[in-house]
Amino acid sequence: MRIARFSVDGSGFSYGVVEGDPGEETVEALHAHPLLEQARRTGDIVPLERVTLGSPVVPSKVVCVGKNYAEHVEEMKALGGADRPKAPLIFLKPSTSVTGPGAPIVHPADSDRLDYEGELCAVISKITRHVSADDALERVFGWTVGNDVTARDQQFADGQWTRGKGHDTFCPLGPWIETDLDPAQTRVTTTLDGAVVQDAPTSLLLFDVPTIISYISGFMTLLPGDVVMTGTPAGVGRMLPGQVVTVEVEGIGALTNPVVAA
Ligand code: MG
Repeated sequence: MRIARFSVDGSGFSYGVVEGDPGEETVEALHAHPLLEQARRTGDIVPLERVTLGSPVVPSKVVCVGKNYAEHVEEMKALGGADRPKAPLIFLKPSTSVTGPGAPIVHPADSDRLDYEGELCAVISKITRHVSADDALERVFGWTVGNDVTARDQQFADGQWTRGKGHDTFCPLGPWIETDLDPAQTRVTTTLDGAVVQDAPTSLLLFDVPTIISYISGFMTLLPGDVVMTGTPAGVGRMLPGQVVTVEVEGIGALTNPVVAA
């Protein structure tokens, strides 16, 4: 099932179920949702093309994994980065960096290198602390697509990654949450102005999704709606104002955002 957060005619956001074939999808509004337990369908159905999609979830935090594909570790080393981590390398993006499909990514005036990072994202369903890897996927409500936008120069200059990863608009999520997906059997593809720049199967993750969620829950509480970004494949590169970036995860959908100058 595909669950979106949407607005019609600029009114407030609602949650809804997306159905139908590509190009003919509709959205049926839900009465309540986060995260779905007793949500009911309302019968109010609108064509997808008539709605504005927002981030499909409003997380308390976005927890990210760095350097989780071997070839990406190598390309970061070429830029002066460190070696392959021995345990998942975890950092946070603030909730205020989250934005939705189609919304502009704002290129900071004080960055000389703004990068895309296409990623598969897990959306957490329940309060989760000390979950085992074996039980971790039971705590996932569904899956969405994310772009871990990064001011690479600020990330390297600071050592700490909060500024380089944390600007407003640096975390596009969407287009919706897909509840049925095998995270180990999908593919992340990023295109910049239509040219493929990243393309890798998630089977190449150094730490798989259950391991990541178990590891994070060993030191912090994951709350319902929190987002876990699983890392980006090789091929990261620069975006400039005027360009359009699309991240697609097979089995979920495509997340497209324009880049604009500050
Ligand atoms: Mg990343």
